[in-house]
Amino acid sequence: MLDDEKRHLIRDKLLRGVLPLTPPHKVYGGKCSRHHPCDGCNEPIGVGEYELETVTAEKVSSFYHLACGHYAAETRGRLLAQHLHTVEQGGFSEQSFS
Ligand SMILES: [Zn+2]
Repeated sequence: MLDDEKRHLIRDKLLRGVLPLTPPHKVYGGKCSRHHPCDGCNEPIGVGEYELETVTAEKVSSFYHLACGHYAAETRGRLLAQHLHTVEQGGFSEQSFS
């Protein structure tokens, strides 16, 4: 379970386009083989910990702790649904899916 601070950080990154808002093209999961930071919460993913790698169609990779990857996917879906809702209400919604 993620704390609120991490959730806020991941949501903010998705909104600012730091993390891709487009659903990943490929997803890999497995044990981490080298120590590196999580693109979601910025905290390290240690060797031997489970991690998730998502790759966009443009070949942009992001690495996550499992919980962070899960939250990012959930938030991405919610943000896209909000845009759809705005458009369905006759509004105009613009989000750069970079
Ligand atoms: Zn993380």
